[in-house]
Amino acid sequence: MTIFSQINIKESKNNIPVISPLNQQIIGYAKNISNADIIKIIDKAIDAQKIWKKTHASERSKLLIRWNQLILEHTDELANIINLENGKILSDAKSEIAYGASFVEWFASEATKIQGSYSEGSKTGQKIITKYEPVGPVAAITPWNFPNAMITRKIAPALAAGCVIILKPSELTPFSALALEYLAKKAGFPDGVINIVTGDSKMIGETLCNDFRIRKISFTGSTSVGKLLYKQSADSLKRISLELGGNAPFIICDDVNIENTIKCLIPGKIRSSSQACTSPNRIFIHNSIYEKTTKMLASNFEQIKIGQDIGPLIDQEAVDKVINLISDAKSKGATILCGGTLQKETFFEPTVIVNCTDDMNLFKEEIFAPVLACYRFDTIDEVIERANNTEYGLASYVFSNNSKTIQDLSDKLDFGIVGINTAIISNYKGAFGGRKASGFGVEGSHLGIYEYLNTKYICEE
Ligand code: ADP
Repeated sequence: MTIFSQINIKESKNNIPVISPLNQQIIGYAKNISNADIIKIIDKAIDAQKIWKKTHASERSKLLIRWNQLILEHTDELANIINLENGKILSDAKSEIAYGASFVEWFASEATKIQGSYSEGSKTGQKIITKYEPVGPVAAITPWNFPNAMITRKIAPALAAGCVIILKPSELTPFSALALEYLAKKAGFPDGVINIVTGDSKMIGETLCNDFRIRKISFTGSTSVGKLLYKQSADSLKRISLELGGNAPFIICDDVNIENTIKCLIPGKIRSSSQACTSPNRIFIHNSIYEKTTKMLASNFEQIKIGQDIGPLIDQEAVDKVINLISDAKSKGATILCGGTLQKETFFEPTVIVNCTDDMNLFKEEIFAPVLACYRFDTIDEVIERANNTEYGLASYVFSNNSKTIQDLSDKLDFGIVGINTAIISNYKGAFGGRKASGFGVEGSHLGIYEYLNTKYICEE
């Protein structure tokens, strides 16, 4: 029996239908839990927390190692589930499984490295001890665009730190989350430690935020929902991490090898059908190489095979959004070099759009579709100012071979992440996180586990 056949309810009654963006067919149903159910799950998690926080770090680490092995052993099955419910092509889905598992492996090791400190106090005989303790039960809410990796990136550090977790995946992609929970059970995590809940997002969000016993909330998704969860968590003063939208500038300086730059940009852009908050959103190209670069981009984009190299957009709303953005840009003077229309269902043509200007909505909003919006620039100071002229602050990219330019841009770009001569910055070792309307908090790296740990200071005389 496949994992999918065991987690799919298959009954429509009261449950949530999951529609595949590949063919608009219902592929199955996920539970629509009631408020009473979620309260029972919280109660169970609170009980589990009492035991989990006392487990030895090496025990937590061993369970994470086992979970990682099972995830990797089931790569094909898990990738098929992502392909079905999210639509991304299989090779992207497989990369996501490897990326998702890398967090489990990494935090299995980080669990055993949590270290406090000891020092002499401010007077003779006084001892100062600083130690770390799990923040307590954690709630997490995740999106549909990386239905596996956004989950492991939260669950793994929470468990490593000694926190239990209740996680609500997107209603559009619940099966990847349920499959991970299924494998976690096989790995031997005790009951109540990992709890995946599916159902009405508003009701579940409110219940989790309002419950004082849950001490931390971690969210990845839109800025508007992030703000709402922040407000809802104020009364119970939860710790909160928010990984929200982006509006990444991708700056191509005049000294680059254009061909190599395009070889990096295109896979970075079309990964996950361009539906990533780190996706290059505004392509700034130096005026002296603008025509040549945009022509080469268009000839490369024209070769991308829809359905084979790139999947569909998640739903009709995503299609409507990109169509509106393109029509606004055209009405303000932009020209389409290639693509620009819907091929079928929600499969959108890879599009290069030139002569874009900063007054267009394309400049202000996250496109979340395979559209390269190309802007001209003349000077480094000018491009820094324009790149920073956004409420968002997640990823940014610089392509240059000049060390002074690289230094200047990496210092002055007001973003949490700067990719230099690379368009793929997602990495379990990197401190992933944004600023401004892109949120706050860090995922991955040696810092990620501290999002789930409280500091305790002990003064002894
Ligand atoms: P996107 O636009 O990428 O779908 P959303 O912020 O709408 O981003 O969704 C991200 C996650 O937030 C999903 O799991 C979704 O179900 C959840 N969500 C949406 N609205 C709410 C809400 N009012 N309260 C709690 N969670 C919500």
